[in-house]
Amino acid sequence: MKISKLKGIGSIKLNALAKEGIHCAQDLLFFFPRRYLDRTNVQKIGQLRGVGEKVTVAGTISQISEQGFKAKKRLEIVVKDETGGLKAVWFKGGYYIKQRFKVGQKIALFGTVKQFGRHLSIAHPETDDLHKISDLADFSSIVAIYPSGQHFHKARLYNSDIQNWITQLLNQSCLDSLIPEFIPDYIRRTYGFPYRADAIRAIHTPSSQEAHKQALRRFKFEEFFLFQLSMERIHGERRKAKIGPILKKSIPNTRLYFDQLIPFKLTSGQRSALRDINDDVRSGRQMNRLIQGDVGVGKTVVAMGALLMAVDNGYQGALVAPTEILAEQHFTGLRKAFSELNISIRLLVGGQKTGLRRDVLTDIEGGGCNIIVGTHAVIQKEVHFHNLGMVVIDEQHRFGVQQRAALLHKANNPHILVMSATPIPRSLAMSLYADLDISKIKGLPKGRKTIRTAIRSEKKRADVYHFIEQEISDGGQIYYIYPLIEESEVLDLKDATAGFEKIRRRFPSARVALLHGRIKSGEKDAKMQSFAKGEIDILVSTTVVEVGVDVPNASTMIIEHAERFGLSQLHQLRGRIGRGSRQGYCILIPDNAVSKSGAVRLKTMEKTTDGFEIAEIDLKLRGPGDFLGTKQSGLPDFKFADIIQDQDLLETAKNQARELMLRDFLLSEQEHLELKQYFESYYHEKQQLYGLA
Ligand code: ADP
Ligand code: MG
Repeated sequence: MKISKLKGIGSIKLNALAKEGIHCAQDLLFFFPRRYLDRTNVQKIGQLRGVGEKVTVAGTISQISEQGFKAKKRLEIVVKDETGGLKAVWFKGGYYIKQRFKVGQKIALFGTVKQFGRHLSIAHPETDDLHKISDLADFSSIVAIYPSGQHFHKARLYNSDIQNWITQLLNQSCLDSLIPEFIPDYIRRTYGFPYRADAIRAIHTPSSQEAHKQALRRFKFEEFFLFQLSMERIHGERRKAKIGPILKKSIPNTRLYFDQLIPFKLTSGQRSALRDINDDVRSGRQMNRLIQGDVGVGKTVVAMGALLMAVDNGYQGALVAPTEILAEQHFTGLRKAFSELNISIRLLVGGQKTGLRRDVLTDIEGGGCNIIVGTHAVIQKEVHFHNLGMVVIDEQHRFGVQQRAALLHKANNPHILVMSATPIPRSLAMSLYADLDISKIKGLPKGRKTIRTAIRSEKKRADVYHFIEQEISDGGQIYYIYPLIEESEVLDLKDATAGFEKIRRRFPSARVALLHGRIKSGEKDAKMQSFAKGEIDILVSTTVVEVGVDVPNASTMIIEHAERFGLSQLHQLRGRIGRGSRQGYCILIPDNAVSKSGAVRLKTMEKTTDGFEIAEIDLKLRGPGDFLGTKQSGLPDFKFADIIQDQDLLETAKNQARELMLRDFLLSEQEHLELKQYFESYYHEKQQLYGLA
């Protein structure tokens, strides 16, 4: 049904709706309320008692006044109900807010009550325009408040309009066909999800808070369910249809000589990860595997093994890392480990000289080079592989799903191995990596000592310096990390540079070097190498060493302004030490003023070195988006559901989706037709995102 046919929806309003992406009846029905005004909860102004209480009040605007100059204008409005009056105050931006109000208008306010002088007031409340709401609201005690679209105000499109139109739609006899059910009956019944059309009704005109909750739960499930179905399908399709290079030779050969290339005995975790990879690459199917293991468990060795499997079978291998420093380290490490084998390894990073770059590109395309190690540069268009058989992505959480897909397109279904040190909590892993097989490496190599972490205030700085002196004279090496200042490389640099001078003056006999992102690639590598060789005592650095860097003799890390770092970041940074047999020490020096969450972060670091525990806490502190960083574009964007809070639903959705896929429901001609139909269009989009289409 066309929404233009609804009563009271002239072309201006139609237009405003279109600008908010609402074009048809379904769009309108899925325009969910932002909040509900539970009229049983609206308080009388005269009876407000508690200061500091969060309340909803409703009344008529009796007065609007402003003070101050334009942008800084302070706005006050007085709202009255039958029992008294209350002031709502905006200290900033009053000029703009004022346009929303006029005297005589009915509004609802939601916010925290404060006492100013003798009067009660609410600062910066949320407001709802109650224009005509009350007549309509007689139907139910819970009134839906819709998001006010940017273009609504100008079009004189009010909450009451939306309520009115939606009510018209809800009264249609064809609501069931507008909102067809697609979740199979047995699932719906098992978990008590309301019918789709009923749930829509309960979202817009809930009879109770409980009814609303159940409806929302259904839509959350729906979202997870479709997502998980597509993940299962992608997974399944890769397993079934995606033919990967068969790396048969790996079994007889790798085993025999791989151990001899590595100067230590592999841990059981490393072995079993290599075994998983081995099974994958011989199966004839394309491997899509995640190696998950905390910092320092030794993932690089596993990557080496995987690359070698490709090379032994005449394929190229690529190892991609998020930073230049890490790529260079891997490059050096691989060359050293494979020096006896006749393997050509090349480095491809940004900022290489044109001639060299051209040379490398030719070598990759011609097949002269067996292993390519590099940064994002490897993903670029100009890079053509001769016969890429294995892609390893290190610190994969720094890359997005799209980048992974781009690499896939570089060859005919190469095997993919992604490695992550960020222990991703289970719920996140289920959404992010639903299309991957996972091998976990638990347990650090033998002989590691638990890093000791301490918070030291400014007052103790002299002690810290003394400690550094001792460590150096004892043959240790120090990372001295300067903070992140608002994500700005320039400012970071300034801070680290000043810090470097300070450290140099304080430790005149020590060999001190400075490392940051602005240093040229070659030089960066040279500095890292001389640090690795023990020619530098104190490496003053920005967070460029955050991921992957491996200098086992460096056992002490000092972090200035530690409160400015995120938890996972601190954990990654600290992962640079404690990589050898020396006792590791991490000293966090916070600023004097530390926020509450800052203090939680520091305490957590002091308390535990368990990456998993740290990740869980970090996730709680920051939410999934920030936890993964903006780079992580692969996080599915759920409209209703929250992967942390609704974890149980996510799990249910996963199990149900898996079972359906195992039963090959897509092939059946009678069953779940609605689901199949609905799923096809949803899946189409996902397919592209994951590089399958
Ligand atoms: P991560 O998992 O953080 O990437 P790395 O692969 O960088 O860890 O390994 C950390 C350090 O441990 C390196 O110095 C590496 O040489 C060493 N290492 C890896 N595996 C073992 C092992 N089985 N026994 C002893 N040392 C190991
Ligand atoms: Mg690593």
